[in-house]
Amino acid sequence: MTQKYTCNTCGRVFPEGQGVILEVGSDKLYFHSKACAYKFLKEIVIGSDTDCISSSLKKVKKKYEEILEAASKKAEKKI
Ligand SMILES: [Zn+2]
Repeated sequence: MTQKYTCNTCGRVFPEGQGVILEVGSDKLYFHSKACAYKFLKEIVIGSDTDCISSSLKKVKKKYEEILEAASKKAEKKI
């Protein structure tokens, strides 16, 4: 039997294998779509104390900057 989950943002029920499931500590978050996940996570980010999230924000931002930089370097080499 397929497990069913209820979206934390809109309440829609969706089967296992669909949607987005996030485990944060002991909390589990269920979203039937990326749009609902985005809406929920955006509110967490906006509502969070800046001091609490700024270090992880910087870390993630830096990670993607490095990935983008490496990708653009690769593209340069091809030309
Ligand atoms: Zn939803």
